[in-house]
Amino acid sequence: MSDCLFCKIIAGDIPSALVHQDDSLVTFKDIHPQAPLHVLIVPRKHIASLNDLSPDDDALVGSMFRRAAALAKEHGYHERGYRTVFNTNREAGQTVFHIHLHLLAGRGLTWPPG
Ligand code: AMP
Ligand code: ZN
Repeated sequence: MSDCLFCKIIAGDIPSALVHQDDSLVTFKDIHPQAPLHVLIVPRKHIASLNDLSPDDDALVGSMFRRAAALAKEHGYHERGYRTVFNTNREAGQTVFHIHLHLLAGRGLTWPPG
């Protein structure tokens, strides 16, 4: 989508701190990190929110979680622990309407979240 921030990052029109990419996913550092490791795992396919997923996206979403686990391990946080979050719509604080999985690690993360 032409007016989508993450589509522009994926296209390379806006710079990002790239962490990993493959045919279907792009992972970059969050610009306002909330933990020592805070990256966003983003599908190349534009999907506005979890409310817009179809059964065809099941494998894609599964691959997002598997990428999160791989990156947590790569950064040495897989045993200490890490958090994966999708925010959906206003009350959850979604600000970018192109789905993205937050991966946070490197500090104690409180529960329940704010
Ligand atoms: P959410 O609030 O769940 O929609 O998450 C959007 C995230 O995108 C926030 O954590 C922002 O800090 C992050 N963000 C916004 N703009 C950029 C950008 N240009 N590069 C990297 N992360 C960004
Ligand atoms: Zn998009």
